Amino acid sequence: MEAKKIRSTFIEFFQSKQHQYVPSSPIVVKNDPTLMFTNAGMNQFKDAFLGNEIAKYSRVANSQKCLRVSGKHNDLEEVGVDTYHHTMFEMLGNWSFGDYFKKEAIEWAWELLTEVYQLPKDRLYVSVFQGDEGDKLEKDVEAAELWSKIVPEDRIILGSKKDNFWEMGDTGPCGPCSEIHVDLRSEAEIAQVPGRELVNNDHPQVIEIWNLVFMQFNRLADGSLKELPAKHVDTGMGFERLVRAIQFKSSNYDTDLFTPFLDAIAKKSGKTYGLEEQTDIAFRVIVDHIRAISFTIADGQIPSNNKAGYVIRRILRRAVRYGYTFLGLQQPFLFELTPLIATYFGDVFPEVRQQQEFIAKVIMEEEASFLRTLDHGLKMLESIKSELNSKNEKVITGKTAFELYDTFGFPLDLTSLIARENGFSVDEKGFAEEMEKQKTRSRAASEQETGDWVLVNEDTGVEFIGYDFTEAYSQIIKHRTI
Ligand code: ATP
Ligand code: MG
Ligand code: MG
Ligand code: MG
Repeated sequence: MEAKKIRSTFIEFFQSKQHQYVPSSPIVVKNDPTLMFTNAGMNQFKDAFLGNEIAKYSRVANSQKCLRVSGKHNDLEEVGVDTYHHTMFEMLGNWSFGDYFKKEAIEWAWELLTEVYQLPKDRLYVSVFQGDEGDKLEKDVEAAELWSKIVPEDRIILGSKKDNFWEMGDTGPCGPCSEIHVDLRSEAEIAQVPGRELVNNDHPQVIEIWNLVFMQFNRLADGSLKELPAKHVDTGMGFERLVRAIQFKSSNYDTDLFTPFLDAIAKKSGKTYGLEEQTDIAFRVIVDHIRAISFTIADGQIPSNNKAGYVIRRILRRAVRYGYTFLGLQQPFLFELTPLIATYFGDVFPEVRQQQEFIAKVIMEEEASFLRTLDHGLKMLESIKSELNSKNEKVITGKTAFELYDTFGFPLDLTSLIARENGFSVDEKGFAEEMEKQKTRSRAASEQETGDWVLVNEDTGVEFIGYDFTEAYSQIIKHRTI
């Protein structure tokens, strides 16, 4: 079954169970101080869970654009290294707002996976919350009993708060969950080690696909749990992982969601995917990151120097550097993948098709600007490496990392990544101190001119030269004479 069909089948299945299809909310979050990017399908329903808002429909299903590169859910370091964590991914979900609860959620999930998608039952495991003393929570006996009617006992695994109590962030709606995991190993491997021993153990072929969360609490800022006014269901299934399980591949990147992109990069670079690990990581990082970058730009977040914009810039620079170092791509190349994004995602997410040219332009300019300093920065890193080696030292100082950031535009995580690849580490605390020093310096410099109106004054060196009517009528252009 092709990815497209797998997605539409999910929606149709829940429509047949009286769910309303709602479009994905933007991947960039603008109105929630606790969150920069959408990290789960439930984000757009946060207020309905908390009882601050009455849900428009009591049953809903969708495919949500998610990004997990910051905050509580941050998978960036895994991306490209493993084959099942992405930066941007689609989360298929079904919800009940005070309507059905555990029974239907569990039975329908099983029906969809095993009868509609026909995943073999003997490859699936389920997990149940075992309880937690700290939060004074009991084992989820109800879920355990419901599962035991469907699957043999040895396929049910008890899980701790880390895996079986889902929380959106440090505060907000949360609750115990039941997850479904799939074992995609060969028969020979299965004969050696049973799948249940590998669930939640970072085995690349035994992966979590679906999380059924039973929303019952709100985590308050003081860390306590408060019962929600009603009970809800919130499920999230990683679309790319589901496609991989159904297409029975050993990597998400071997599904039809990624192969056209890998082919394009192979053609562009003249390299082959699947021959050598470091090159493969570069391929995977690039075809993963282009999605994150394109979807966030389409939702209005362009790369910049702070907050969400800087997260996107970091992702983009990471991709550019992987291409540069491991695939020999020394000219802008990422932007050339945007037509493929439009082709493969435009039907479901029209914004990437409508804005394809704009997205390409932003990416191309950003790539070109970073490529102008990348080579110098990498050369500087080379000489730092030789220097450290000659002294038998292993740590790049905060000052050096800051210079790479400030002069060559190397985000700290990029310097750390390159350091790691070469057996070094970075003094991140020292970097933060340098950053703080720079902020203090620039604060001191701007204190002289904090007013809305700055008088022409020889001492400050600021001269009033007029209004910039093209930007905003009230904006004063300040022109430094010294
Ligand atoms: P994992 O343990 O694999 O990191 P998770 O427990 O953090 O996943 P959930 O928060 O339960 O994930 O999200 C629901 C589903 O979304 C998961 O079951 C998985 O299929 C999918 N998912 C989570 N993180 C990612 C990611 N970074 N890339 C792709 N799919 C993901
Ligand atoms: Mg995770
Ligand atoms: Mg998990
Ligand atoms: Mg999970």
